Amino acid sequence: KYGRTFNFSAGPAMMPEPVLEEIRDEMMNYRGSGMCVMEMSHRSKVFQQIADEAQADLRKLMNIPDNYKVLFIQGGGTLQFAMVAMNLMKNGKACYVETGAWSKKAIAEAKKYGEVQVVASSADKNFSYIPDCSDLDIPEDADYVYICENETINGTTWNKLPNTKGHILVSDQSSMFLSRPCNVADYGLIWAGVQKNVGPAGMAVVIIREDLIRDDLDPKTPIYMKYKTHADNDSMYNTPNCWAIYCCGKVFKYLLSIGGLEEMEKRNIAKAQVIYDFLDSSKLFKGAVVPQDRSLMNIPFVTGDKELDAAVVAASKEAGFDNLKGHKSVGGLRASVYNAMPIEGAQALVDFLTKFEAEHK
Ligand code: PMP
Repeated sequence: KYGRTFNFSAGPAMMPEPVLEEIRDEMMNYRGSGMCVMEMSHRSKVFQQIADEAQADLRKLMNIPDNYKVLFIQGGGTLQFAMVAMNLMKNGKACYVETGAWSKKAIAEAKKYGEVQVVASSADKNFSYIPDCSDLDIPEDADYVYICENETINGTTWNKLPNTKGHILVSDQSSMFLSRPCNVADYGLIWAGVQKNVGPAGMAVVIIREDLIRDDLDPKTPIYMKYKTHADNDSMYNTPNCWAIYCCGKVFKYLLSIGGLEEMEKRNIAKAQVIYDFLDSSKLFKGAVVPQDRSLMNIPFVTGDKELDAAVVAASKEAGFDNLKGHKSVGGLRASVYNAMPIEGAQALVDFLTKFEAEHK
């Protein structure tokens, strides 16, 4: 249908087909409003309802407690590296766990705003595992402990959150957001760029405990960079990314309709299992991550031979797949199988890899 490809991109990535179809049907005239959502005033009643429903549906989906604010902020994930540090470093000190490319970026940015202590790292083995964080050395006056809960490039995921010893936990959930149930109360702040597991690029969702929203920031902090600005104005201080809010809202509704995050997790486990089972039995391909910390979303794997890796990538394109080339820091291939990738995509990929392996014995 539609000639669509199985797109294994790390993001922006596939969206659920029923959602794209609904968006298509509403494109020229959104529910009798006479206009497309792209053309609508963000102050109009009709858009306000779209934004309100998006927030309410996300709250339902994640069971977000009442003492947390949900914010829709432009600037994607990278802006959050800075915003987290600017807003939460009250004592000017924070602990970061270094598990890969995206936590490194967060660390580099946070260093501009205060003292950063890297309390655990998996750099010694090219970020192929999640370090033991059951007994970290966390200073009493640390403002928060920061993790990247799913490292998109390295393909690791946290299955057990760190022991923060009573400190606030901040998590970058960009590449795993809504992929499994999440107990929001375990966190002080969760943020996620939406372009991987939810909707179009250009927005981050921030879920923040109300008591962490401060007004006593450096007076030079740009208005846009204060969580308080967005919290006080229900994410409408300025013109928000209306289109992303609309599309994400549809994905929230879609996830509720299929049975919520429990059902999504079941499907994601089944889907990733198809690929991991293949990798574990293959003599040619090898997964890049230790089994207990493997991501359900991003699956990097290698042949161990750069030329052969390049040959698989080229053959995969020819076979009609897209975006399977691994990041240069890991090499090989990476299959990103976010929520919207159907299990048929994982199966088709494994069929292709099986055939490739048979032809390259
Ligand atoms: N964090 C993670 C885990 C990511 O995967 C990415 C993007 N790949 C980012 C942050 C940065 O997001 P953005 O491109 O929206 O700035």
